[in-house]
Amino acid sequence: MNWEEFRAWGRRAADWAADYQAGLRDRPVRAQVAPGAVLSALPDAPPEGAEAMQAIFDDFEQTLMPGITHWQHPRFFAYFPANAAPVSVLAEYFVSAIAAQCMLWQTSPAATELETRVCDWMRQAIGLPDGFTGVIQDSASSATLCAVLTMRERALDWQGNKAGLSGQPRLRVYCSAEVHTSVDRAIWVAGLGEENLVRIPTQGTTRAMDAKALRAAIEADRAAGHLPAGIIACTGGTSAGASDDIAAVMDVAEAEALYTHVDAAWAGSAMICPEFRSLWAGVERADSVVMNPHKWLGAQFDCTTHFLRNPGDLVRTLAIQPEYLKTHGADGVVNYSEWSVPLGRRFRALKLWFLIRAHGLEGLREMIRNHVSWAQDLAARLEATEGFEIVTPPMLSLFTFRHLGGDDLDAHNQDLLNRINDDGRIYLTQTRIDGALVIRFQAGAFTATAEDVAMAHDVITELAEA
Ligand code: PLP
Repeated sequence: MNWEEFRAWGRRAADWAADYQAGLRDRPVRAQVAPGAVLSALPDAPPEGAEAMQAIFDDFEQTLMPGITHWQHPRFFAYFPANAAPVSVLAEYFVSAIAAQCMLWQTSPAATELETRVCDWMRQAIGLPDGFTGVIQDSASSATLCAVLTMRERALDWQGNKAGLSGQPRLRVYCSAEVHTSVDRAIWVAGLGEENLVRIPTQGTTRAMDAKALRAAIEADRAAGHLPAGIIACTGGTSAGASDDIAAVMDVAEAEALYTHVDAAWAGSAMICPEFRSLWAGVERADSVVMNPHKWLGAQFDCTTHFLRNPGDLVRTLAIQPEYLKTHGADGVVNYSEWSVPLGRRFRALKLWFLIRAHGLEGLREMIRNHVSWAQDLAARLEATEGFEIVTPPMLSLFTFRHLGGDDLDAHNQDLLNRINDDGRIYLTQTRIDGALVIRFQAGAFTATAEDVAMAHDVITELAEA
């Protein structure tokens, strides 16, 4: 394809995208194909000759589209959202066309400086004090890995990268069982070992870490000759929205001089609404905070904002400057590749800039407030429906429930969930709460309406009765 042909196809792509979005309500939310069906429809060998764009496009529509789960569907109530507001899709279109690799300031000064500006906009939007500096990472998993590596280096007096971990005491990191598995992975990748991720028991409806137990675990570890390195707290855990008492965690961390990371990958978007900020009161005392505008807020995947009280610690952990990456004559600039594990960086700031400007914070707040209130309404309706039990109450727009039927409740609810997802009108996923299988519901799709959420009640009760 040359750029003249691109013109025509680019226009078709824009029309296709708008039509696709307009027709989403008529499609099943979750792909309804059997495993292997798409693979077997694809030729075994690559083509030797060039193929016509029309043929490629036809296969895209006919072979691939039936195997797509529609994350932008208004009735996507599974996992957490990965919203892509149209304006952020447009920004990605421009980013793809420019295709700049933004690893250093000089490899695209505008990308670096826009990143500085939009991260600070986000910091203000979610109410973090101005002592925090932000960077855009590809994912929350990467941000958490950065935080764990920083904890490790800080605890080892910055010798870990050089000398490795052998001969060192066991480095210990503390969190509850409610944190996302990206924490486990970060611990593995950082070479600390899963056994050194100490799980602190939780308490109360918020499923928050017990601060007393946290303090006791750290004391016991010190007495055993281990080396406590940091604490990872969560606001809005993946399973049921568990939220630690951040202020209580910070009291312990400060007394023990430990590095702290707060994972608010999903719930962080809600912090643009001041009324939800009590959920993470004390966050201003954390060293590192992550939230994903690519989840609830509407910045097309991927776009993670990572805020640091002292970015120098992270740069000291990750920066490496071979001659070919030096930026002579541009002293004092920020090279964001020194703030993240991958060297190469996409121009992610553009979609966040487009998004915030096109919707305004007030527009985004309205969406989030609607989702929270619709989820609360649905939870109340289900609770009032015979045979249903709310297992964990709404935490922002997320709650869990189960249907009481049959001898084996887990099997009964898994079967109900399978039937709901095979039906296709809505999409839900499961989790386990205190060992029991329950169904998760979260409202978060960018284009969801009150009617879409109400339809969830109809589908769930209709299929439960059947
Ligand atoms: N943290 C939480 C609380 C999450 O829910 C998720 C994903 O859903 C992650 C971290 C990982 O996010 P990412 O896919 O950006 O790595």
